[in-house]
Amino acid sequence: MDVVIECLDCGSQAPFSAAQPKCPNCGSLWREARYDYAKLKAELPSLVRSRPFDIWRYRELLPVRGTNPALSLGEGGTPLIRAANLGMMLGCPNLFIKDERQGPTASFKDRQASITVAALKEAGIEEFVIASTGNVAISYSAYAARASIKLWAFLTSLVPAAKMREVAIYGTQVIKITGSYDQAKEVAAEFAKQRGLSIDLGARTITCIESMKTIAFELAEQLANLQAPADGPAWLAPDWYIQAVSGGMGPLGVLKGFQELKQMGLVDKVPRIASIQAEGCAPMVHAWKQNKETAAPVLSPHTLIATLATGNPGRTYSMLREKVLNGPGGTFESVSDAEAFRAMHFLAKMEGLSVEPAAAVAFAGLVKLVRSGVIKPNETVVINCTGHTMPIERNILGEGWSRDLVLPQSMEESSEEGLLAALTKVSIDRFPRIAIVDDHPDVRRLIRRILQSQGNYTLFEATNGREAIELAKRELPNLIILDLMMPEMDGFAVINELKKDPDTAEIPVIVVTAKELTPAERDRLRGHIQTLMQKGDFLNDELLDEVRALLG
Ligand SMILES: *Cc1c(COP(=O)(O)O)cnc(C)c1O
Ligand SMILES: [Zn+2]
Repeated sequence: MDVVIECLDCGSQAPFSAAQPKCPNCGSLWREARYDYAKLKAELPSLVRSRPFDIWRYRELLPVRGTNPALSLGEGGTPLIRAANLGMMLGCPNLFIKDERQGPTASFKDRQASITVAALKEAGIEEFVIASTGNVAISYSAYAARASIKLWAFLTSLVPAAKMREVAIYGTQVIKITGSYDQAKEVAAEFAKQRGLSIDLGARTITCIESMKTIAFELAEQLANLQAPADGPAWLAPDWYIQAVSGGMGPLGVLKGFQELKQMGLVDKVPRIASIQAEGCAPMVHAWKQNKETAAPVLSPHTLIATLATGNPGRTYSMLREKVLNGPGGTFESVSDAEAFRAMHFLAKMEGLSVEPAAAVAFAGLVKLVRSGVIKPNETVVINCTGHTMPIERNILGEGWSRDLVLPQSMEESSEEGLLAALTKVSIDRFPRIAIVDDHPDVRRLIRRILQSQGNYTLFEATNGREAIELAKRELPNLIILDLMMPEMDGFAVINELKKDPDTAEIPVIVVTAKELTPAERDRLRGHIQTLMQKGDFLNDELLDEVRALLG
């Protein structure tokens, strides 16, 4: 990853860090990653040949170090399926489906989440905020769980309950916004700003666009396998790439991917891009058809397909339009909800693919573009099958897995004070304070994750006995979770010190230890601690039950 990040507004270049989203020169959030294409042109084909077919195959063209086995869920490398029956129905024999349902959480957002979370981890970021129409939240939740990153997900209440529960089961804090997706994004941004947290900014987050590129790389290799003669090229671009579009990140990334391949001389063209929106929320399509450079926001989307409910695509549309017009060409088209639901049926019945309504929008768009002659019968078309809906059993989560915020009907009516007032309900700063004392970073990380995934606590960490005493006196936590076996000053000594000082004597202590305690040691602890737990022997719920009981 020899990458530089170039500002789209002032042209200055900077190194990549997930902790530094802005151009250091002008403060712009609109930036793009650049690599040493001349060097990679010679190296890439032989580098990738021996690697597994997954997203990390192209690590030289990604802004992160590469496979982190502790985080990976087997992202990328989804199959390219020939759609023979659909092709026959439409009179287009060269239809292919990129089956992104087969990602770890069943949507193409797994690319975005896997690479972004890898970058957050590399930057040492421990808490992250997202706004989502569902799939982003699901995917980030899975990867954040593995990375022990605390995630706040702001979801519009239009997101189907099954998807919300899927987010919650990973231990993400769900904030359900009764309002539009665009409102949810604004509230999330305000929340992140207030708390000084990092937030996913879609097309403005470098790792998001970069991750979507990998669809282009995989497609080109897979298509060459399926279509090129044995002695032909190893990379091949289709004539068309079709995707259902909400914010437009997918097509922007895929376009960049093919442009990079072309720049390296690996493909001879960039596919035309067809972006399909739901009729009731199609700001890009309206702007495209009126030949406008900017899209007027749709303030209240009217579609049942919540995944695609970005009413205000902002600059992403202008960039996508410009790149399509100055590059390969393409189109923007819309379909009705009814057309999308019909497409769900024929895809399942003709091709054996059960897809979510948003993914079906792309297929309904394909039908429309073939029927209107925009797509020609002999052209090679790849349709991104972006996602699959999964229902989470409603009874397993219990109550209180989301917090609900009801906002005024339109953002214009809501004053900044109103917004802040609403947010104080979410960001109560009076969370119980817990100190985690352990010399092993992995144990601290695990305990932190267990606590964060089930409640809101202000957490402090100490890595040895002396730090623990200082921390306890300084922060006066409501609870201390204490390891016994630590170098220099062990847990027994920490307890003695705490008991000597009237300020800290009454703080409840849970001892978590890997040590088999002798009867004498048990005696030493008796009366001084509240709970003794054996490491490796406690389950999440047991620790949490103890914590909750002690915090009252
Ligand atoms: C996010 C999403 C889309 C839209 O993606 P963008 O490229 O960000 O517009 C389409 N379909 C599904 C299933 C999605 O999750
Ligand atoms: Zn700049």
